[in-house]
Amino acid sequence: MKELLTPPPIVHNQHAEIRELFNRYVVPSYGRFDLVLDRGAGSYVWDVSGKRYLDLGGGIAVCALGHANPEVTEALVEQSRRLLHVSNLYYHGPQGRLAEHIVTHLAPGKVFFANSGAEANEGLYKVARKFGHDEGRFEILTAINSFHGRTLAGIAATGQDKVKKGFEPAVAGFRHIPFNDLKAAQDAVSPATVAILIEGIQGEGGLTPATAEYLLGLRRLCDEKRMLLLVDAVQCGHFRSGRYQSFQRILEGIPGAETFQADGVSMAKSLGGGFPIGAFWVRQESHGVALADLLGPGTHGTTFGGTPLGCAVANRIFEIIERDHLEQHVRTTGDWLKSELERLARAYPVSVKSARGLGFMQGLELQARETIPAFAGSEKPASLQMVNRLHEAGVLTIPSGNQVVRLLPALNIPRAQLAEGLGIIEATLKSLG
Ligand SMILES: *Cc1c(COP(=O)(O)O)cnc(C)c1O
Repeated sequence: MKELLTPPPIVHNQHAEIRELFNRYVVPSYGRFDLVLDRGAGSYVWDVSGKRYLDLGGGIAVCALGHANPEVTEALVEQSRRLLHVSNLYYHGPQGRLAEHIVTHLAPGKVFFANSGAEANEGLYKVARKFGHDEGRFEILTAINSFHGRTLAGIAATGQDKVKKGFEPAVAGFRHIPFNDLKAAQDAVSPATVAILIEGIQGEGGLTPATAEYLLGLRRLCDEKRMLLLVDAVQCGHFRSGRYQSFQRILEGIPGAETFQADGVSMAKSLGGGFPIGAFWVRQESHGVALADLLGPGTHGTTFGGTPLGCAVANRIFEIIERDHLEQHVRTTGDWLKSELERLARAYPVSVKSARGLGFMQGLELQARETIPAFAGSEKPASLQMVNRLHEAGVLTIPSGNQVVRLLPALNIPRAQLAEGLGIIEATLKSLG
């Protein structure tokens, strides 16, 4: 039988072509959504077919000032005309100024620059090990459902089995404790324990903020046992909570919290607004040790850490956030967003269980998949099915576990655009029946 030849498509199918490149040439380590994105402006992005989406995921809390921000572009262009990279064998202005910005927003201490969140955390593990080395202490306690990155030590630190599976043996020296459970932390301390590392708001673990009592209790415990209190602020830091750090917001107005300080804080995601940069801050002194000077010459380093280009961009982002009072915007608009999500939880109890989070790090916790009629027929987790439906409706959000849909919008998103997104989320919830 003669085969019928279909004529070639007149419109060049970029979507299929790019997907095919990924299928053939890119390691398939990510579960990707079927979207091929092409450009962005502010909190909108467009796919290759020209469809527009409101981006409420912000590149997983990275795009602090939205997409294609003209002032960020200007900082990139200006600095790239002057000096891209020189290596850490030399001094340069942008790194010194960025370190000053970070210290000014936290407390006296010093900063090391890395390239990602996982790598920033690696630095904290090394600080902790160096601190406890001469006493033979090395163990770091981290929380169940935490997320600390995908390096070997990162997956050992992360309190989720799914990231560890297949990559054994695990890096030694990490043990997990239930989050927000002070008694469990007290009971878990062994003679080898040197530090406790927690997220201020668990990002991958369902948007759970640390309680004030937990933060203060961990501080007391670390003071008693000569341990370091380390905070992974890779996702929840950089003004996302409505304060520079989420623990500053959580502890506001709490008696006894005025003097609270962490011993180390890791950061990345929003710090470069899309330019890859990570960092950790370490306190000047803790337990009588000059913690900020613990990693002396030759003990730690990375080729690309704190390049003039990355630091110039991060400095500009700090300046814009301050100039435009975005901390206040995130606080007031974030409180409103939370109340709107709580309203949705009350109005659509068949699909939504609760609203949780702080500032511009919010989550809508869905009911179990089997109990949502529209989702029961598919094996896919409820969070994924909801995110897919929102894509069809023109909104980008991020799943967190099987149950939670995360909103991590740009810090400068106008309230009207958030309202537009909430309208689409509500219409989608309505359509679930
Ligand atoms: C994203 C994230 C990391 C890892 O950062 P990478 O840049 O992906 O290495 C670590 N901790 C938390 C809390 C994160 O959200």
